[in-house]
Amino acid sequence: MAKPLPDTKGRFGRYGGRYVPETLMAPVQELARSYDHFRKQRGFKAELSRLLAEYVGRPTPLYLAERLTKELGGAQIYLKREDLLHTGAHKINNALGQCLLAREMGKTRIIAETGAGQHGVATATAAALLGIDCVVYMGTEDMRRQRLNVYRMELLGAEVCGVDSGSQTLKDAINEAMRDWVTNVENTHYVLGSVLGPDPYPRMVRDFHRVIGTEARRQLRKMAGRGEPDVAVACVGGGSNAMGLFQVYLDSKKVDLVGVEAGGRGGDLGDHAARFSGGELGVLHGARTIVLQDDHGQVSTTHSVSAGLDYPAVGPEHVYYADKGRIEFVRASDEEAVDAFHRLAATEGILPALESAHAIAEVIKRAPTMDEKSIMLVNLSGRGDKDVESVLEWDAAARGGVAAEVTPHPSANPSATTDGEDGA
Ligand SMILES: *Cc1c(COP(=O)(O)O)cnc(C)c1O
Repeated sequence: MAKPLPDTKGRFGRYGGRYVPETLMAPVQELARSYDHFRKQRGFKAELSRLLAEYVGRPTPLYLAERLTKELGGAQIYLKREDLLHTGAHKINNALGQCLLAREMGKTRIIAETGAGQHGVATATAAALLGIDCVVYMGTEDMRRQRLNVYRMELLGAEVCGVDSGSQTLKDAINEAMRDWVTNVENTHYVLGSVLGPDPYPRMVRDFHRVIGTEARRQLRKMAGRGEPDVAVACVGGGSNAMGLFQVYLDSKKVDLVGVEAGGRGGDLGDHAARFSGGELGVLHGARTIVLQDDHGQVSTTHSVSAGLDYPAVGPEHVYYADKGRIEFVRASDEEAVDAFHRLAATEGILPALESAHAIAEVIKRAPTMDEKSIMLVNLSGRGDKDVESVLEWDAAARGGVAAEVTPHPSANPSATTDGEDGA
């Protein structure tokens, strides 16, 4: 087995690290120390397991999608049902883990960033459960688009703080959350929502999602007679649900690992969030990784029909394994994702999140090329209730009906600006 990653400096080979301003170094180091301490504590682990079972709804089922398997006429398709978790996606695994850690660290205040609102809702939920104050930073453009999630967070007792800078979306919310953290580190923990940011976040968020892979492997062994699938597939925004599944298979060379990025509406910069096709080495939000950027190094705007995949950088560990050829990265377009959304709804009675629909789109392409004995394991990261309106608008536009009334995705807004302040 290879040496554990990241190394002591938080690096995955050339990627990751702690590219933060001086003022953030102390809180980042304190967090790393505390995480290393508490993650081994029996009491902490027991409390997290208990809440994951009794409150969050673990283990989630593994489900053999027989009708879809039959229709595609190839590999057997198993879905890991993270969509059935409380709050509707895998994000609660991490949000709860970090909030519990914050409580152990004696923090009385939680802050988080959110794009579409999913991570904000998960964090506000965990904070309410544990009785901790919660502030969620959200771009004002995102707030306009996701009014319902803003209200949901408020119902949960969180304060939603609008961010007016830059493109008024996720990356600006992260900048603002980091600023808050520097100022209030005494009593505040910052709950970052994916395998991004400075060490220890990428490894900590990965570890909190490991339960996805350990459960799936055990369940597959029981249901299919072997815990190792031929292919494991997951969508990749920052990369947390994918790493949650993939990490248990990294050493099993026979398992092909496939991450699916948002191909958006085309290959031009600004039209997608496929970092592995268009991105270049850079530093964003404290980590060295692949970033979508223009010729001047300005962080590019991105586009995806699914808000959760709509981010210009990707988790550093993914880039490390992409370089090694251990994880293959492909893309699914907006249109392919929406088609996959319909397909899973019609064949299995499951509305997937549009993010997860990107993984299903890859299944639709790949399963027919595999034989009937082979097994494809798919992480269904979230449920699609939140996306019904987007799909409705998409379908209406496709029919040429009320196309003019469809609100364009704000990250596609040509007047949106990028600011170059995200670097180290
Ligand atoms: C946020 C989200 C994602 C993308 O985040 P990752 O860190 O890449 O997992 C994927 N699926 C769903 C349902 C989400 O809410």
